[in-house]
Amino acid sequence: MIITEQKPIQEILQALKDYKKLFLVGCGECATTCKAGGKDELLKLQQELEKQGKVILGSCIPDAPCLASQIKTELAKNMKLLRETEAILVLACGLGTQSVKDNDRLGLVILPGCNTLFGAVMDAQGNFYEKCSMCGECVLDITGGICPITLCAKGLLNGPCGGVDKGKCEVDKERDCAWVLIYKELEKRKRLEQFKKIKGPKDFKKTDKPHKLIMTK
Ligand code: SF4
Ligand code: SF4
Repeated sequence: MIITEQKPIQEILQALKDYKKLFLVGCGECATTCKAGGKDELLKLQQELEKQGKVILGSCIPDAPCLASQIKTELAKNMKLLRETEAILVLACGLGTQSVKDNDRLGLVILPGCNTLFGAVMDAQGNFYEKCSMCGECVLDITGGICPITLCAKGLLNGPCGGVDKGKCEVDKERDCAWVLIYKELEKRKRLEQFKKIKGPKDFKKTDKPHKLIMTK
C-alpha cells in the first residue's frame, strides 16, 4: 500500500488561499488505512476549513481514487456540486490526486492535501514498513526474501560494506545491516552458496521514469 500523511493545516490553507468553495476527495483504501484521507480525516479537515471561512460544498471517498473508473463515477455523481466548486482538495496519495486531475471533466483546480511517503507493508499492530523500492528487477529469490535495495542504506547487491559493526548498519546503529540479515536467512535455509555468487550490476534503465505498462487485450 501507499503511505501518506496529511499536510499541516497551514500548508493546506496557504494552497487554498485563493479559493473559497471547495470539494473534498478522500481514499477508501490506503489513505483511510494510514489515517490520512478516510471518513474521520475528511470530517475533521472540513470542520477546520469551515472555521477558516471555507465552504465545503461536498465530498466523496471512492475506494481507490487512483482507478479512473471509480473516480469518474464519483465525480459524475457530484457534477452539480462540482460546477459550483473552485478547487478540489484530495486527501490521497499523489497517484490519487493526479487521477482526480486526469478524470475531472471541468478542468478544476486540484490540490494535494497529503504528502506521499513510501510503499509499505503493514504489521498486525498497524505499523508501516517500507520493504520494496520498486526497482523493476527483483532479487528476492537470491537474498532470502530480504530486499537489499531498500533495507541496505547503500542499496548494495553483493554483501555488506566495510562499515557493518556487530550486525548493525554504519549509517544507523539502531538498524540491522541488511546483509547480515540476508546472511542469517540464507544460513538458516542452508542456501549460503547463493551468498557467494557475484551479482552483476542492476539494469538501472528499468528505474527510468515515468514507467508505464500498457495492457493488451
Ligand atoms: S529487489 Fe527489492 S526493490 Fe527490487 S523489486 Fe525486489 S523487493 Fe522491490
Ligand atoms: S552496514 Fe550493511 S546495511 Fe549499512 S550500508 Fe553497509 S551493507 Fe548496507
